[in-house]
Amino acid sequence: MTPPCPHPTKSRYATLEAATRAAHRVTHQAGLPLRPYECPCTWWHLTKTPAAPVPNAADATLADIQRLASLPDIDFREVVAEDARGEGAPGDRAALRHHLNLTRWKRQLGQLQGDLNQQYGERKGDKSLATHDWRKRAAGYGDNLALRLSECRRLKAEAHADLLRKHAFRKHDAEVAAAAGATVQEMRRHAGEIAIDRLIRAHQPEFRTYLAEAYAELGITLPDRVRRHLPAGTEAAPVDEESAS
Ligand SMILES: [Zn+2]
Repeated sequence: MTPPCPHPTKSRYATLEAATRAAHRVTHQAGLPLRPYECPCTWWHLTKTPAAPVPNAADATLADIQRLASLPDIDFREVVAEDARGEGAPGDRAALRHHLNLTRWKRQLGQLQGDLNQQYGERKGDKSLATHDWRKRAAGYGDNLALRLSECRRLKAEAHADLLRKHAFRKHDAEVAAAAGATVQEMRRHAGEIAIDRLIRAHQPEFRTYLAEAYAELGITLPDRVRRHLPAGTEAAPVDEESAS
């Protein structure tokens, strides 16, 4: 199932981390800037070619994500095929990587691989020049499909881990709140109140100044206990400027 390596003589690394370490080493020793890249053979190699920008789910707008999700299969598959060739609208390519579209992306990649394999089968034994050309292009395309599939699997695993983490802390918080006889919302509000109290105590003079200004703006009289503690030089300035003149 795994395509053969297009560069079997290159050093191979099992993980991105190992490849990154090797890249740093070579870059330092030989002054040759190298970067790791994932090969269709599932290993990591090093290259001096700069990376093509990788689409990121975070760049997709909600409209992108919903538009892609509502496409019929035939159009969705076209987006998947274009992305595998490094083409297509940036919004579509980013939305493809959003967790809502990952399962469908994976399924369509599998179908495109199946189609490709079927075409290989149909052209088996065909020694014409046209088929020779086709095989060369098809090999590159097949490599890209394999790479996208591995990217998709990685994103799916990340999305799954993220979901588990969210479930875990929601459950934990609900238990803590229930033990305290409150809801999670009440506890969050309480935490906010505690923080505001501490902030006020840590910045008393500043707080009193703001309070005096707010009283003045609203045109009500500042209580003596606040006025007494205003920082030196601060006046509980009366809003009515005519009375000062
Ligand atoms: Zn390889």
